Amino acid sequence: MSKKDYYEILGVSRSASQEELKKAYRKQAVKFHPDKNPGDKEAEERFKELGQAYEALSDPQKRAAYDQYGHAAFDGRSRGQSSGGGFHDPFDIFREVFGGGSGGSGGGSSIFEDLFGGGRRDPNGPQRGADLRYDMEISFEEASLGCEKDIPITKLDACGDCKGSGATPGSRTVNCTACQGKGQIATSRGIFTFTQTCPRCQGAGKAIEKPCKSCQGSGRKEKTSKVRLRIPPGVDTGARIRSTGQGESGTQGGTSGDLYVVIHVREHEIFEREGDDLICEVPISFIKAALGSEIEVPTLSGKATIRIPAGTQPGSVFRLRGKGVKNVKGFGWGDLHVRLNVEVPTSLNAEQKEKLQDFAASCDARVNPISSGFFEKAKKFFTGS
Ligand SMILES: [Zn+2]
Ligand SMILES: [Zn+2]
Repeated sequence: MSKKDYYEILGVSRSASQEELKKAYRKQAVKFHPDKNPGDKEAEERFKELGQAYEALSDPQKRAAYDQYGHAAFDGRSRGQSSGGGFHDPFDIFREVFGGGSGGSGGGSSIFEDLFGGGRRDPNGPQRGADLRYDMEISFEEASLGCEKDIPITKLDACGDCKGSGATPGSRTVNCTACQGKGQIATSRGIFTFTQTCPRCQGAGKAIEKPCKSCQGSGRKEKTSKVRLRIPPGVDTGARIRSTGQGESGTQGGTSGDLYVVIHVREHEIFEREGDDLICEVPISFIKAALGSEIEVPTLSGKATIRIPAGTQPGSVFRLRGKGVKNVKGFGWGDLHVRLNVEVPTSLNAEQKEKLQDFAASCDARVNPISSGFFEKAKKFFTGS
């Protein structure tokens, strides 16, 4: 495996001064620091590389050796020789460089707080539980009027048998056998010694003598429980409701994650929603539309009556103020728009047909102003006058 050139890693020339090296390292190390890139393996790798490159080049002796022999300078030349000049933990280098000018107080961890607004992530310390997402379908009425729902959530929760400790009750804590309680394991490569976090205990240095059988020592178990969720009136498809602390439980006493419920609203048979407004198409006979009438219309809160004036045309819309959906942020209520669909009668009997023909014979432009106006225009169009 070929290793990248240390000067290239830092992005400096081969004649770079100490100050330039430091500047380059500072700039890049902040960018790739694992605290800033949680879970990003590539950033972590870059951060380690930067530490090694800076460490090698900032020490005049190592730099001279590297300039002459390249990576071979640190590789296999003096196998077995334990050296005082091994590569350090990249976090120590980071702390050293950034702690350099900060004059006395603070030191170590506060640097991280200054840079990233939070303490350094300790892999052995409390970890916050994961957030969970749950997709839920609700009815149109439930979304419009609000409701309460019990939702079954399967998640990692604190193990009841060991109360989340991971140890069989009465079991002692013993030193990790892999690292003898040090939490770190040293490996030699060439003349240098690398230390790495112990993979068995993840750096804790301690192990549980008798792990809890129920959770295999993890302290957490998958459990299904019901979470009661209050859905505010006015939610619509895509709304995300957060239930604080209902995600997976944390480890080592860390806080629980949150539960996010994503809402999907089913369509309604007669209402259509547009923001906070409702639209409802209501059929009406052509007689009622012609003569005027009072008709009953549905609303979310029951029936309402509206007055239709004589001569109402198909597609006319009547607005019922405040009969829409409550605004989810509390800004009042939407309106209900009733659109009239004038129905033409079908399957007339002989008598009904005759009466309609009599009626038609009595009609003139005064009775049907829209169509007579239209035919006037059509006549002009055909004759070209
Ligand atoms: Zn347990
Ligand atoms: Zn260990």
